[in-house]
Amino acid sequence: MTQAEFFASRHPLAAPAQGELYLLTPGPLTTSLATKEAMLRDWGSWDADFNRITAEVRQRLLAMAGVHGDSHVCVPMQGSGTFAVEAALASAIPRDGKALVLMNGAYGKRAAQILEYMGRDYLTLDKGDYLPPQPEEVAELLEAHPEITTVFLVHCETSSGILNPVKEIADVVKAHGKGLIVDAMSSFGAVPLTIDEVPFDVMVSSANKCIEGVPGFGFVIIRRDLLEASAGRAHSLSLDLLEQWRYMERTGQWRFTPPTHTVVAFHAALAQHREEGGVEGRLARYRHNRDVLVAGMRELGFATLLEDRWLSPIITTFFSPEHPSFDFKRFYAELKARQFVIYPGKLTIAESFRIGCIGQIDEAVIRRLLAAIQESLAAMGVDDCRPAA
Ligand SMILES: *Cc1c(COP(=O)(O)O)cnc(C)c1O
Repeated sequence: MTQAEFFASRHPLAAPAQGELYLLTPGPLTTSLATKEAMLRDWGSWDADFNRITAEVRQRLLAMAGVHGDSHVCVPMQGSGTFAVEAALASAIPRDGKALVLMNGAYGKRAAQILEYMGRDYLTLDKGDYLPPQPEEVAELLEAHPEITTVFLVHCETSSGILNPVKEIADVVKAHGKGLIVDAMSSFGAVPLTIDEVPFDVMVSSANKCIEGVPGFGFVIIRRDLLEASAGRAHSLSLDLLEQWRYMERTGQWRFTPPTHTVVAFHAALAQHREEGGVEGRLARYRHNRDVLVAGMRELGFATLLEDRWLSPIITTFFSPEHPSFDFKRFYAELKARQFVIYPGKLTIAESFRIGCIGQIDEAVIRRLLAAIQESLAAMGVDDCRPAA
């Protein structure tokens, strides 16, 4: 079966239910019918069947990160992805340590904000809206500031869609003997990230991104010895990663009420991920989605924020047309009336919007989206999609 045939055979939304929307957003995103159906029964949080599902989920996530021994452990954490980032930062950075936060968008900024709340010392390298942090710049900062203990990097900075050079930066961080925390929230499961390639100490992701689950929890893959040494670091009872892990190891249960339906849906989503060919299979579909999207949009006259080599297969930022009749709110409403939900831009420099390539969507859906965009522009009277110079 080819990738396309496979996808067609299980595509739940080839003819979406009346009123159902395609979420072309970086999570929550469009999920499969099988994933939604997994949520149709109730589970006891103490029950052995549910605990087995939690254990399998943790095991599969470790395997996806290339962890085969017991060097790293997987700790799920209730809440959205940010809750898991916050728990990870608190555990991985000593109270008297200092972080270097590499920023080129909203999620790097958010990490610095979390450190500010926690009162942990940090330094930032702020590259603005869309430039990638360079390994040489990181090396320079680490040499100038030997007190830095830990570097924080976002893999795919979802606010622009840029894929940051994670391997090159990881090599520099490791050459300087520092800890590395990777926010791979929007890339894990679709862009390869394994400990043999990228020697991270901590990696954070969540249920509702490339593994195509529904929102409700995040997870941290962390070096076991680092976690074991983190006693007393947490600033929050509920976000204490070490306690969450210890309780789960001891009882098989989540420490506080788990998002049961989200966990079983995620378990179903993981099975589909494997059937699709794992990370490689998913990457191939998302890349193809992006290529069809970008080519189609450029044909309509739109321009991407990023050069091709920085475009992630996750989400793409397009400049808004300069045409006086273009209005994002109206554009959004026109597309929504045609069953597509897109995402506003997050740039400070220019008007833009974003379109996600992830979730249960394939080339056929992207082609329908492109037709819907063309219809929407016509309805608005926009006949030129070039951005401002
Ligand atoms: C989605 C995302 C997060 C977490 O956001 P939540 O809204 O808390 O789920 C963090 N980092 C990146 C890069 C993301 O894409």
